[in-house]
Amino acid sequence: YVELKDVNKTYNDYKASNDINLGIKKGKLVALLGPSGSGKSTILRMIAGLETPDSGEIIIDKKVVNDISPSKRGIGFVFQNYALFRYMTVFDNIAFGLKIMKEKKSVIKERVKKLMKLVNIENLGDRYPNQLSGGQRQRVAFARALAPNPELLLLDEPFAAIDAKVRQELRNWLRKTIDKVGITSIFVTHDQEEAIEVADEIIVTNKGRIEQVGSPKEIYSNPKTAFVAKFMGNPI
Ligand code: ATP
Ligand code: MG
Repeated sequence: YVELKDVNKTYNDYKASNDINLGIKKGKLVALLGPSGSGKSTILRMIAGLETPDSGEIIIDKKVVNDISPSKRGIGFVFQNYALFRYMTVFDNIAFGLKIMKEKKSVIKERVKKLMKLVNIENLGDRYPNQLSGGQRQRVAFARALAPNPELLLLDEPFAAIDAKVRQELRNWLRKTIDKVGITSIFVTHDQEEAIEVADEIIVTNKGRIEQVGSPKEIYSNPKTAFVAKFMGNPI
C-alpha cells in the first residue's frame, strides 16, 4: 500500500535517508524501529508530505504522491508532540477535521460519539486537554486522526511521553483498536519491546539506512546484521 523507491534526504550534508526502499502491505501495522537519529521520523514525515525527498518516489495506493499536499494524501497522524487544540473541548478536537470537510452537524455528532466510544473516552467530550491524563490525550489524538476516515495512519512515538505502566496498557489498546478499524498503520518507536509486541512487521533503521525488514520473530531470532543483533539485545 505504501512504497518508497530509492528515497534520499540530506540535511546539511547529513544523509538522514540513504537509498530507502520499502513496501508496506494494506492492513498491516508496521513498526519503524531504530536508535535516536537513525532516520525514522524523516521517513514518516516524507510519507506524510511534511518533508520532500531530494530524490526517489513516495507511493501511496499505487500513486506517486511526491507532489501531492499532506492534506490530500488520506493520512491521519498521531505525533508525540502533535498537541491537541488547547482551547477546544475533546469533542471539538475530534470534530475538527470533519468541520473542515463541511460535514453536516448531525453526521459529525454521530461520528465523534462513535470515535469517543472506540477510544474509551465516552464521558470526556466536554473536557479540555489540560483536564486529561497523558494517556487520555493520546487517545483523543488518535480519535482525531481517525475522524476523517484516512486510509493510512502514521504514529510517531505516540506514547513516548507517557509513563511505563500506562504505556504498556496503551500499546495493547492500540493494537486492538487498530485491528478493529483495520487501517494500514506505521508506528515509529525506538523501543524494541514495543515494536515486538505491537507490530506485524518491523523495519529496523540505522544511520539513515534500512538494516533489516521482517516479522518480530525473524528480527529477534534471526538478525541479519551485527547491528540488528546488538540492538535487539541478542548479539550473534
Ligand atoms: P529520534 O528517535 O530521536 O526521534 P529519528 O530516528 O526519528 O530519531 P530523525 O528525526 O529522522 O531521527 O533524524 C535523522 C537525522 O536527521 C538526525 O541526525 C537529525 O539530526 C537530522 N535531522 C532531522 N530533521 C532535520 C532538520 N529539519 N534539519 C536538520 N537536520 C535534521
Ligand atoms: Mg523521531
